[in-house]
Amino acid sequence: MTAFTTLPLKPALLTSIETLGYTDMTPVQAQSLPPMLDGRDVIAQAQTGSGKTAAFGLSLLQSLDVDTIRLQALVLCPTRELADQVSKAIRKLAANIPNVKLLTLCGGMPLGPQLASLTHDPHIVVGTPGRVQEHLKRESLHGGGIKVLVLDEADRMLDMGFTEAIDDIIGRIAKHHQTLLFSATYPDEIRAVSKRVQKHPVEVTVDAPADEKPAIEQRFHEVEPAQKLDALAQLLGGAHAADAKRNQALVFCNMRREVDAVAQELDRRGFSALALHGDMEQRDRDEVLVRFANRSCAVLVATDVAARGLDIVALPLVVSYDIAHDPETHTHRIGRTGRAGQTGLAITLCTPRERPKAANIEELNGTPLPWRPLKVAPSRGKTLHLAPMKTLVIDAGRQDKLRPGDILGALTGDAGLDAKDIGKIDVFATRAYVAISRALANKALERLRAGKIKGRNFRVRALS
Ligand code: AMP
Repeated sequence: MTAFTTLPLKPALLTSIETLGYTDMTPVQAQSLPPMLDGRDVIAQAQTGSGKTAAFGLSLLQSLDVDTIRLQALVLCPTRELADQVSKAIRKLAANIPNVKLLTLCGGMPLGPQLASLTHDPHIVVGTPGRVQEHLKRESLHGGGIKVLVLDEADRMLDMGFTEAIDDIIGRIAKHHQTLLFSATYPDEIRAVSKRVQKHPVEVTVDAPADEKPAIEQRFHEVEPAQKLDALAQLLGGAHAADAKRNQALVFCNMRREVDAVAQELDRRGFSALALHGDMEQRDRDEVLVRFANRSCAVLVATDVAARGLDIVALPLVVSYDIAHDPETHTHRIGRTGRAGQTGLAITLCTPRERPKAANIEELNGTPLPWRPLKVAPSRGKTLHLAPMKTLVIDAGRQDKLRPGDILGALTGDAGLDAKDIGKIDVFATRAYVAISRALANKALERLRAGKIKGRNFRVRALS
């Protein structure tokens, strides 16, 4: 336990902390505040609820000079809701510092009132990347005096296609500033962003409490080669029936041609299944990864090498359709399941001839493998196990200056869809993908075809 009073904070901030009823720092605060107050760049893995907002809020308020009427701190958030929450939290922390001017600037809000409130520079801006970028471009906002830049929920901002906007913003603000990056997950892209925008960052990771540590349940089933497909369909079907909305599975095969055959067979049996392997064109591979990540594919069948490109950290179910050749690969595969606070299931199918490979895994683990009997019923024809979303492809992308917000705008505006029915949006150079709730996908397609996106007509089609 570390008390806030051990930090060299301004008395006004300590008073606010007391008023808010905080006594001890949370683990993220205890680890990140000392280097942040020292002026270091920090990259912190922190979930909502970890106290991250107070951590960067206190740090940016500590270095704020209220008498200088310039923008000194910029906080970028993925959504308006988060920007509102962050603004509120910072206002509370700043309650005992007179005359702090904080402005929230988010997209989806009319520009006029924002421009009016920018006649004098605020000290702090909290906003979404697209709109902040626009104000900097228009020079309604001046970034020359920025001392602290915060990227909050950076992983979500990347997911939402804000990478370019963020890079552009950084190009428009003071060269020398402190960058604080907070992210719930650390995919490679986050590391790449940190490398690009941070200087020798101090890395903060806080272990999830023991009861939130991922737990993996393993099951080994012995099956005859001729039974494998039926066994797989049965296992996947059972998982799908348990929770169709959430359940996604990753199925590993050892050979590329087997990947194709298994994916086709699953598709024939009514699953939203796709294949992923190294023989595919990059563009097709990207498309498959997009469709799996946006939940319009329920089962991904892949080789080990191809699955490395998969950014999804943990899935509820991983199946080794073929047992891995070596124990290390097996460990890698099962590590794809098991999420914080939830048990993941890793199932391995093993034919009698493959038993020696199972023995190797057992030897490495040092414990007996959990073999379970599996009664394989022959296929009962086609039952639908469809993914909850469907993907629409727009034949336009960054080259056409198309941004995720434009697509969202077209769908919620003229097309009349509710934002809750719109999933992940991915914009590539010449194409864009948007996931829509399956039941509404055809309606969305018709409306997009009939209407315009950003005032233009683009070709739009649905992926089955
Ligand atoms: P956040 O992770 O920033 O979304 O914060 C989660 C919640 O924890 C917020 O409601 C904060 O008010 C609260 N909080 C932040 N820091 C502390 C602390 N040191 N002690 C108790 N509560 C805190």
